[in-house]
Amino acid sequence: MTALDDLTLEHVWEVLEAVPDPEIPVVSIRELGILRDVRRGTNETLEIVVTPTYSGCPAMYQIAEDIGAALNAAGFTKYRIETVLAPAWTTDWMTKAAREKLKQYGIAPPMGNCGSNEHAPQERPLRFVPRIVDKPACPRCGSLHTERLAQFGSTACKALYRCMDCREPFDYFKPY
Ligand SMILES: [Zn+2]
Repeated sequence: MTALDDLTLEHVWEVLEAVPDPEIPVVSIRELGILRDVRRGTNETLEIVVTPTYSGCPAMYQIAEDIGAALNAAGFTKYRIETVLAPAWTTDWMTKAAREKLKQYGIAPPMGNCGSNEHAPQERPLRFVPRIVDKPACPRCGSLHTERLAQFGSTACKALYRCMDCREPFDYFKPY
């Protein structure tokens, strides 16, 4: 039984870094900001804190299963997965690398930020500024000449758009 020292917790972060998002396999749950914390619980139990991209996200079951499988493969058997809904996940938690990968995958990354990543979510000032740019650029050709086909794309997190220039439909990861 390994003691859960800081080095071990760091190793767990690395192990979970490899767990992909079930819906967008090119990005990890850590890059998406779904993986919130890895900490020491009581009786040397690992506590994995996750926040789903939206409440009732069906992918959450898959994510919990994948986390469990990754931990087991790395030799960790005593763990607990805690789902935290507040503060709610926001697209601001996505890393820059994740946004770039989304784009390469053909999904337009969320535009704009509700706040800065430098601040903890609860410190984020409320802003009621209307969004000026409301059309995502085509992830393939970069054209801003796009139109929305549907409010919901392949999942509720995404909207379906089409590029008027290359005529290709694409998913847009809605910021929230
Ligand atoms: Zn295009």
